[in-house]
Amino acid sequence: MADHADVAIIGAGVIGCSVAFHLARLGRPSVCLVEKEPLPGSGSTSKANGGIRAQFTTEINVAMSLASMTILDALADEIGEPPLYQKAGYLFLTDDPARLSAMTAAAAFQRARGVSVEVLDAAGVRAKAPYAAGPILGGTFGPRDGFIDPGGLTNFFLREATRSGVRALYGAEVTAIERGESGAYRLLTTAGEVRAPVVVDAAGPFAGRVAALVGADVPVEPVRRHILISGPCPSLPRMIPMTIDADSAVLIRREGNRVLIAYSNPDEPPGFNTAFDPDFPLRIAEKLDARFPAVGEAGLDIKRSWAGLYEVTPDHHAVIGPIPGLPGFFVVAGFSGHGVMHAPAAGRAVAEMIVRGRSESVDVAALSIERFARGEAIHETMVL
Ligand SMILES: Cc1cc2nc3c(=O)[nH]c(=O)nc-3n(C[C@H](O)[C@H](O)[C@H](O)COP(=O)(O)OP(=O)(O)OC[C@H]3O[C@@H](n4cnc5c(N)ncnc54)[C@H](O)[C@@H]3O)c2cc1C
Repeated sequence: MADHADVAIIGAGVIGCSVAFHLARLGRPSVCLVEKEPLPGSGSTSKANGGIRAQFTTEINVAMSLASMTILDALADEIGEPPLYQKAGYLFLTDDPARLSAMTAAAAFQRARGVSVEVLDAAGVRAKAPYAAGPILGGTFGPRDGFIDPGGLTNFFLREATRSGVRALYGAEVTAIERGESGAYRLLTTAGEVRAPVVVDAAGPFAGRVAALVGADVPVEPVRRHILISGPCPSLPRMIPMTIDADSAVLIRREGNRVLIAYSNPDEPPGFNTAFDPDFPLRIAEKLDARFPAVGEAGLDIKRSWAGLYEVTPDHHAVIGPIPGLPGFFVVAGFSGHGVMHAPAAGRAVAEMIVRGRSESVDVAALSIERFARGEAIHETMVL
């Protein structure tokens, strides 16, 4: 017997769960989340650092971040304690004059769009990050930026969605998608069949593979990304902003009494490999010691460190919206490292498209898949 729903969402990560939550809030809870793993949120969502920031250089990234922050603020009372969104700030620092002037211009762009961001001189940076060593010219600080608990947010969306009637099918890998004469889709899964007139591809790094099942070309590639955890590091303050050395691209934040360290390896090839590369720490050791010596001294705890997959598009912006020629088939994927922070706004936008025919809360037209064919790729310079 096939399972019938108004909307089938492929993928129960933070994105799929946000779409389900917002559909339920818009009064459309006939939704089936279809997830290949035995648990929700166990894909890229479980590997994320959880940063949220509005310090970006494209209209759409700023708009998505501000819309997500507004949704998170509005949900704060409902979420309760402990809060999922902590406004510890994002601090970008540099010793490069050209980079500082680009960061100053970016801050002006952001302020004009309602982002609160301060430009700091060297003393201002050192006051916020006394643990940053070496020469520093200045930086920027966004006080509304900070961290989200990725698993907590996914669970909140899922809990509220299922309370409203949304169903979830786990251990159900979608292996084929057919379109019947009525226009409804048949999802063939390893746990049975699901039929729905509307399908949302929220399969994260697998979104391109899922789209290919209906013959659509969605350019989302998986790229491995490492997170390192230091040994206990008592000398840093208990709470620090996400601190990014823009010159070396090493970033740190607190993780309990330890420190979480991230760095984007420019040589990482696309692929589904999530094995931890034992050579990865060598890439950052010198940079870490130079800028954050207390963290370097604390050493790395490789057993607690991990690797996961970014879901990357050619212009490092998500694809959100319908696929031309496939009525009722939507994609919401390819967040390129910003999927947790943009999940609230992205889920709301897709739910509005399905229920109201267009996204009303945030204009996501720039993220349509047609931008690639039209040569309208978006260029973001503050990519981490
Ligand atoms: C190391 C690291 C650090 C990160 N840091 C940040 C950060 O600081 N801030 C931020 O905003 N983002 C960050 N990200 C990115 C963020 O994790 C992702 O953008 C986000 O989790 C994407 O969510 P998703 O729901 O689209 O994908 P996923 O969480 O991967 O969910 C997709 C789901 O689809 C399921 N699925 C796939 N194929 C099928 C199929 N055929 N049938 C059924 N189910 C299927 C998968 O099992 C998975 O559960 C980071 C990512 C990594 C790896």
